[in-house]
Amino acid sequence: MSLERPIVFGNWKMNGLREDGLALARAVATAPGKGTLGIFPPATILREVILAVEGSNVIVGAQNAHSEDFGAFTGSISAPMIKDVGGTAVLLGHSECRHGLGEADADVWGKAEASARADLLTVICIGETDDERTAGRRDAVLRRQIDGSMPRGSDVSKLVVAYEPVWAIGTGKTPSESDIVSAHAFVRERLDAIFGRESRIPILYGGSVKAENAAAILALEGVDGVLVGGASLDAESFVRIFQAGQ
Ligand code: PEP
Repeated sequence: MSLERPIVFGNWKMNGLREDGLALARAVATAPGKGTLGIFPPATILREVILAVEGSNVIVGAQNAHSEDFGAFTGSISAPMIKDVGGTAVLLGHSECRHGLGEADADVWGKAEASARADLLTVICIGETDDERTAGRRDAVLRRQIDGSMPRGSDVSKLVVAYEPVWAIGTGKTPSESDIVSAHAFVRERLDAIFGRESRIPILYGGSVKAENAAAILALEGVDGVLVGGASLDAESFVRIFQAGQ
């Protein structure tokens, strides 16, 4: 599976009731342009969103998945459940899960293994906090997260990495262009070392991407696409972001 660039994924987080969510999904499904569009709605409307975009090339996935396939895990959903309703992707290791829910690298690894078993496209999110950045530890953190949360031996064509500095998520702040390029270069080097140069795992940038800054970010060396949070909730903004990469 090879994803056409630009890859533009929208993380709806805990937003989207049926009416608005389905209208948004339908608008995304009719967006003209080349590349790969994906949306990650809340699990409550996953199936309906999948039906709403049927016939388009839009990828629809879930925002998290358990490491086990089934069992006594109240409140969780699993990779086979996502697949069962027609989902083809999952976001894992989002900073709101790593930092808000205490997900460790090893937890993300287990979830990624489950996602690979279900043959889902797995988007692994990584990124440093503000304290880690100011302490000069960005690359060490990225290395630890890549090494600790990306299982070896699965189909690399089903893996995507999203570099999302925690301090840039939902804050309106973005790193400088040279910082994005250097972070992506570091991630690429590490992915090459682990999975081989031919793996070409796409690397997305995420953190306060909007219609106004998308063209500049999508044009940066080493940026294969973007993961968009807040701006993915507005159809016009999300489509403009996609079109900024044409
Ligand atoms: C995200 O939640 O993955 C994200 C990048 O959010 P935002 O675009 O709102 O910063």
